[in-house]
Amino acid sequence: MYHILIVEDEYKIARFVALELEHEGYRTTVISDGRQALDAALNEDFDLIVLDVMLPSLNGIEVLRRLRQVKDTPVIILTARDQIVDKVAGLDIGANDYMTKPFAIEELLARIRANLKKKTFLHEIGKLKIDENSHIASYDGNELDLTKKEFDLLVYLIKNRNKVISREQALDAVWGYDFIGNTNVVDVYIRYLRSKIDDVYGIKLIETVRGFGYVIR
Ligand code: CA
Repeated sequence: MYHILIVEDEYKIARFVALELEHEGYRTTVISDGRQALDAALNEDFDLIVLDVMLPSLNGIEVLRRLRQVKDTPVIILTARDQIVDKVAGLDIGANDYMTKPFAIEELLARIRANLKKKTFLHEIGKLKIDENSHIASYDGNELDLTKKEFDLLVYLIKNRNKVISREQALDAVWGYDFIGNTNVVDVYIRYLRSKIDDVYGIKLIETVRGFGYVIR
């Protein structure tokens, strides 16, 4: 279930948006203060953030600017009709979308859906970027030359980040249940990925967990 953070100090708007989102099957958290919202956004993994600009303690633009130094959670900013400058500033510092108040809830829902959809195909861990739609993986801006299987294995590990993946799980997910052969193929492909990423860029992307499998953190 997608978890959405709504940052809005106008109680009526926050409540209304939360109810509508819950009705659509999302989990919501509402925070009315900028500083608290930033803390929550940094400490928890929200799937998307709806961020008002005019907020107590820290404005939305500043929340977004500080969040973007660390995380790429999709953000839709909410601006009042006369805050064109905020809209531009928001997009400049990495907002994914914006809505002008007052807005139709259907439009906000549509933008949330669109941004969540985009998010599922774009992955970013540090300097590693993966676009599942265009099948492009890059590290620090340099495109990685991966085969289809290497790419799929990397995506699978990244989608399950922080979870140790066994060789059997990787084999089922990437090669399919009807694959005839043994799980050593996973080790071989992990070696290929390490030779193309870890060895070249001097990092330790894929960790081996002895007796269990592999994990990307
Ligand atoms: Ca406000």
